[in-house]
Amino acid sequence: MEKLLVPTKVFMGNDVIKENSREFQIGKKAFIVTGKSSGEKSGALKDVCDVLFSLGIEYSIFDKVNNNPSIEEVYEGGMEAKKENADFIIGIGGGSPLDASKAIAVYAKNPVGDDFSLYDIYNDNFKNPPLPMIAVPTTAGTGSETTQYSILTLHKEKTKKSFASKSVFYKKAFLDGKYNLNIPLFIARNTYVDALCHLIEGYTNKKSTPDTDEVAEKGLAVMGKFKENMLSGEFTREDCTELLYGSMLAGTVIAHTGTTIVHSMGYPLTYYKNIPHGRANGMLLYEYMKRTYEQLPEKINKVLELLGYTSVLSLSEFLSTVLPGDEKFDLEEIKEWTQTTVKAKNATVCPFTADYDTELEIFKKSLEL
Ligand code: NAP
Ligand code: ZN
Repeated sequence: MEKLLVPTKVFMGNDVIKENSREFQIGKKAFIVTGKSSGEKSGALKDVCDVLFSLGIEYSIFDKVNNNPSIEEVYEGGMEAKKENADFIIGIGGGSPLDASKAIAVYAKNPVGDDFSLYDIYNDNFKNPPLPMIAVPTTAGTGSETTQYSILTLHKEKTKKSFASKSVFYKKAFLDGKYNLNIPLFIARNTYVDALCHLIEGYTNKKSTPDTDEVAEKGLAVMGKFKENMLSGEFTREDCTELLYGSMLAGTVIAHTGTTIVHSMGYPLTYYKNIPHGRANGMLLYEYMKRTYEQLPEKINKVLELLGYTSVLSLSEFLSTVLPGDEKFDLEEIKEWTQTTVKAKNATVCPFTADYDTELEIFKKSLEL
């Protein structure tokens, strides 16, 4: 029986890229995928380019990834990687560029044609294996560097939808707090809450095992140390490296368990209201934890203990402080979203029955309707 699968080799520490430069020798031509600014602002793009230059490895840069990337834009990236004859990918950025890289790696080797359509990426049955990939995360939240998921915006279905394939696990990941140290505070907070949701949804998931629970508890203990920093906005480089570590552990948990309804219900908040992924999840977390407490009181008590809260309510007060927002919602639109969210497979691994009425109630209470 497969207990834990962690195929990504993770390197961590100050100057991790320079110190392990030979690890980048996995091909002759790199296709670097990053956001419009994150690669540059984090300093990671320069460090990667310096190392590739010193190794004599050619590269080209695709720095166009939007937040919540669409399937059309990642296909464009795939075609560019193919045109460039790249034989490996380096993803630099938050979850958006890291997820985009996975799809680009698939499309570069599997262009749309007679036997492969744009949407076949969701079928995990690729004729040609995707290009190998290296990750450099610049946010501490998604853990995409150790998951087999890539979440794409699918305008056709008016939602975000993830594809999963073991073939898109990153080969290597490089974590250095230098890259998330100067991030705007609201992004640090949103992404922190995303990692908390991964840990909590993974820990309380029907697919959790004693092994995934051990990783989740470790991740919760790591993230719990940074509550005060999230309030004050003060971090050292070492803090930021540890946050990346906690986020990576959270990614490892959901690689095995998946997420639950906090994530599937968060997608319409992002799709229709442009609410960042982490904040969208955070807005729904309190109502999820309250209901989960009725089924799994010991687990929720352990979460609170490891994160340093006395009650679910005190965690919710923290969330309200770090995730301010003033969007308005309308009952009719929420009813429509619920018709879709209730069909997500995440509902089947939720610790309580997540039917239409329950999800609608969670939306109403979370969004103050
Ligand atoms: P993101 O969408 O990647 O980035 C949010 C913002 O942060 C962007 O404006 C980005 O700039 C900026 N940014 C990133 N790093 C920065 C840095 N070091 N300094 C300054 N600005 C920086 O946000 P994210 O929360 O990390 O990722 C969210 C995406 O990941 C969503 O699409 C979500 O669905 C997905 N996700 C994936 C998984 C998985 O398992 N694969 C899990 C959870 C979430 P740029 O626009 O310039 O990049
Ligand atoms: Zn997430």
